[in-house]
Order: sequence, then C-alpha cells, then structure tokens
Amino acid sequence: MKSECSLRCPVCGTQIDPGDTLTRMQITYDTFGGKKYCFCSKNCRQHFIEDPKIAYFSMEIGITKDIPTYSGGLGVLAGDIVKASADLKLQMVALTLASRKGYFRQKLTERGEQQEFPDEWNPSKSLFLMPKKTTVTIEDRQVKVQAWLYEHQSPTGGMVPILFLDTDVEGNTPEDRRITDYLYGGDKRYRFKQEIVLGIGGVKLLKELGFKVRKYHMNEGHSALLTFELLKDKSMDAEKVQTLCVFTTHTPIEAAFDQYPYGMVNEVLDKEYLMLNFKQYAGQENLNMTYLALNLSKYVNGVSKAHMEYSRKLFPGHYIRSVTNGVHSYTWTCPVFRTLFDKYIPSWANEPILLVRALEIPNREVWDAHFKAKMDLIGFVEKSSGVKLDPEVLTIGFARRATGYKRSTLIFSDLHRLMEVNKSGKIQMVFAGKAHPRDVDGKRLIKEIYEYADRVKEQMKIVYLENYNMEIAGKLTSGVDVWLNTPVPPMEASGTSGMKAAHNGVVNFSVLDGWWVEGCVEGVTGWSIGPHPKELVTDEERKEVELRDLYSKLEYLITPTFYGDRDEWIELMKNSIARIAHYFQIQWVMRRYITEAYII
Ligand SMILES: *Cc1c(COP(=O)(O)O)cnc(C)c1O
Repeated sequence: MKSECSLRCPVCGTQIDPGDTLTRMQITYDTFGGKKYCFCSKNCRQHFIEDPKIAYFSMEIGITKDIPTYSGGLGVLAGDIVKASADLKLQMVALTLASRKGYFRQKLTERGEQQEFPDEWNPSKSLFLMPKKTTVTIEDRQVKVQAWLYEHQSPTGGMVPILFLDTDVEGNTPEDRRITDYLYGGDKRYRFKQEIVLGIGGVKLLKELGFKVRKYHMNEGHSALLTFELLKDKSMDAEKVQTLCVFTTHTPIEAAFDQYPYGMVNEVLDKEYLMLNFKQYAGQENLNMTYLALNLSKYVNGVSKAHMEYSRKLFPGHYIRSVTNGVHSYTWTCPVFRTLFDKYIPSWANEPILLVRALEIPNREVWDAHFKAKMDLIGFVEKSSGVKLDPEVLTIGFARRATGYKRSTLIFSDLHRLMEVNKSGKIQMVFAGKAHPRDVDGKRLIKEIYEYADRVKEQMKIVYLENYNMEIAGKLTSGVDVWLNTPVPPMEASGTSGMKAAHNGVVNFSVLDGWWVEGCVEGVTGWSIGPHPKELVTDEERKEVELRDLYSKLEYLITPTFYGDRDEWIELMKNSIARIAHYFQIQWVMRRYITEAYII
C-alpha cells in the first residue's frame, strides 16, 4: 500500500514501512491541520497532536536559498531557529508571510546603481496547501488567509512545520490578493495590513488548524498584533497574555520601530479590536508595535549583552534580558570544513558545542580546507563578475544589508593610508549587500564602493557581488581570510555573519559592538576596531580610534601574520572555530530560549 501520508514519523523521524508486519501494529494514522501523518507509536502521535507548541512568528524567514522570503539577518536567524528546533525535536510551529514576490532581486549597473526586480517564487510548486483557511477583517472587508506548509526536516529526525501565510486566495479583491506579495514593500498602510495577516491571521489560523500553543514568540515587533487576538480570547486579562508571550527585540534604533497613526489604524483594523482598551499597551499617540510586544510579554530579550544594556536604557521599567544570537552550525559550515569536522569531531553537526575540539585538527588540514573554500569563492567571483582574484593575496570580506549604520565604506575613509597598508602587505576585497529600495543612503554607499574600487584599481582588486543572498553569504563567509564589520555602535544589536565566518576558520576583524563584544579575545579569536563600549569617548574620538585601529592593525598585525607566520595565522583560525563557533551557534541559543523563556 502506497500511503498518502509521509512515511517518516514527524516526531522522532523513524522511517515507517507500512508493509512491514512487525511494525504495522504500532503505526497510527492521524490528520493534523488537514494533513495526514503516520506515527511510529502512540506516544509520538500523542506528542504531536496534543502537546502544546511554541508558535514562532517572524515577518521574514530564510530557510533555504530557494524561498526568497528574507531580507537579511533577522530572517536568516529565524530560519536557523527553525533548524535548531528541529534538531532538538522541539515542538515548534513557525509562521511567516508567503511574500510571493520575495524581497527583491538586485542588479547593479557598471556604476554600481542598484536596480530592483521582483524575486518571485511559487509556493504551490513544492509546498502543501493547508485545507483550512481563516479570515481577517481589513478595511471592513473579510480577507481570506490561507497557509502553505513547508516541513523542515532535521537529520536527527525532528521536524518543524513553517506556515507561509498568503492572501492570494480566490474571492479576495485584487488588491487584497497582493497583501502578502512584497516583503517590506509598499507604504505604511500596506505594511499594517501585512502585520494584521501575520499577527491576527496567524493566531486565528493556528486555532483553525487545531494547534495548541504553549508560547507565542515574537521575533521583532512585526507580529505584535497577535496580542490583540489573545487579549480578546482572554477577556482582556493582560497578565494571561503576558504569560503566553515572548518578545525578542532586534534593534536599538527607535526610528526603526514600526509605528502607525491611529487615524489609519481606525480605518484598517477590525472594529472588534478597536474596542479593546489597547492604547495603554501600544502607546497614546501612535500604535507602536515594539511597545505593544514589550508591554504584553512577560519575557523580553535583546540579542546580545550590549544590546540588552542599551535596550534597558531605551525601555525603562522593563526587565530586558539577553540571549546572544547564534548561527546554525551545519548550514553555515562550508562543505570542505564539514568533511574536516566529520573526520576529527564526530557528531559535531548535531552537537556543535563539540567544535571546542577544533584545536586538535592538524594545521596543514585546516589550511588545505580553507584554501579549497577560497578557491571555490574565487571561481564564483570570476563567474559572476569577471574579476579574477589572487588566491595568494589576503582577502577581506564585507557583506550585509547596505544601510547607513553598517558603514561599508569606513575602510575607504583614508585612501592614501589604505594604499600604504596595501604596499606593506597586499590586500583584495569582496563586498556584497542589497539596499532597501527606499534607502537612498544605502544605495549611495554601494555606488561609492564602485567609485573607490575604480580609483584604486591599479593597486587593489575590489569587487562587489550582485544580489547578496544566503548562498553568496555561505561562499563569502567561508572563502575570504578576514571578515570585516564596521557598524556604528551601538546600532549592531548582534550581527551573525561573523559567527558564520568563525565556523569556517575565517578570522574576524570588527568594531566592538553586538556579539563581538562577547566574542573578541584580542589577538586570539581575532581583532577589535575602536574603543570598548564601556569607554567614555565622544563620537569624534571614537572614529579616530576606529580608523587608527583599522589601518594600523592591518599593517602591523594582520598582514604580517598572514604572510609571515602561517602557523600563527592557523592558530587564529582554529581559535575562531574552537572558541567562537562552538559557543555562538543556534543550538545553544535554543537551549537557552527553552530553559529561560519558554518554561517560565
Ligand atoms: C547572515 C546573513 C546576514 C546577516 O549579516 P550581518 O553581518 O549579521 O548583518 C544578512 N544577509 C544574509 C543573506 C545572511 O546570510
């Protein structure tokens, strides 16, 4: 009998053979949310159907390179959280928007001008349409919301379903069908409608599908409207709602909080919620999504210790904790390093804390693996940009969203000085990153890098790769020698790309902000740029120290070690793996969320 249901137990991952007479007795079939599953035992069935789950809400989730529903670190983190939860067999369900036209696909002209194209994907090609739908009220219309199911399967056997919410449903007006098209696209009203679909639609759909929920975890404030639906359910008992909610804040910039004028809110939101007395939680002047999430969650955390301290100043009267971000080790370790770790650190992938043993790997093999990864990147760069990088030259990587505070051009502040450094120890650089379509500043930064590259082209190779995404992130964070990060403190709440680099023995050179305040042991795990956040300096003084560190460490520490003392360099690479990657990984993050946030 070819069964219609998946032949893998969704709880423990056991392969099920319905033809096997020995196991047949144990097999249980059940539908959940309209999907049929086979379970290897009654226990697993009970676990799956009856145990309440963690419902993880995120506006963006980057789970694979083929589903372009992410714009940057926030979404990639959400994807990594799903992966770790599946590894740990945690009962979780994740919710996000279908974003059928993705974030956008970036093209760059010869002069570095960004062009944007829809990055379309079709959920019906590989995802399962949940048979049950729900509705939300938007501008007095009933808007139907459906969900596409993606099941993330871990090699450990665990599985986490992701529901991609979608309003492209027959019967909705043409305009409403477009609500879940563009991630971070459109105007404020469009965004507010998306957040209604995510927060309110998400909670309603979970109920419809039969999910019992232990905690609602809001990854950023975008999904905070879910608290309205919970307040309604709990007859306005805020304490009950708080006990159910966990909020992770990701930005220390007040201007970045989603805020909506009540005039617009009154026009768009269901009257049913307008009657709830929610201004006490969401703010008197505007509906502030961050305040709403903050006021209605018992557990609130920032994403690094530095970010926690800054958030405490930003939100006096709230107990803000911190869980420093991490990355999914297997995903962000490149194929050659996976093979190397398999050889020396068996079971590292499911237990990445074991990477602490990386110090034992012979230097020669670490270098060979790195060189292969570097050649792979160099091949990719040549294919996509025509630029031939030199594998013998120290290669610096810088890739992340192109936006003002990330300061991608800081290294060009003193071109003359940079060329001096380059004379004493040769350097080449690879950049990548998209600017949000409305981020004029971010777009200008990309153009400026093109201009600098052109000005120094006789002395130094600088290439900017188009369309930064998870695939390119994987190649860059494993194929360069040094990973550079120069944000304006304290704007980098955590940052995660440097953790990806560390997994591949790529050495970090970064401003002391976000996670690097915790990760940097000067000269051991990498190098710092600029003063420690505890030092009291003016902005001008800080910039002066930053530039001094940037150039002088490159000239007197980094290039001389790279070219002159290969064993010392490999020591730094191994320290990056053993002292950074083993700790800044998402399984540790999840274990902390489970013990600190989910069981309180
Ligand atoms: C990891 C990742 C990021 C985050 O980079 P940061 O340097 O932490 O901002 C952004 N975009 C993509 C595609 C990534 O994979």
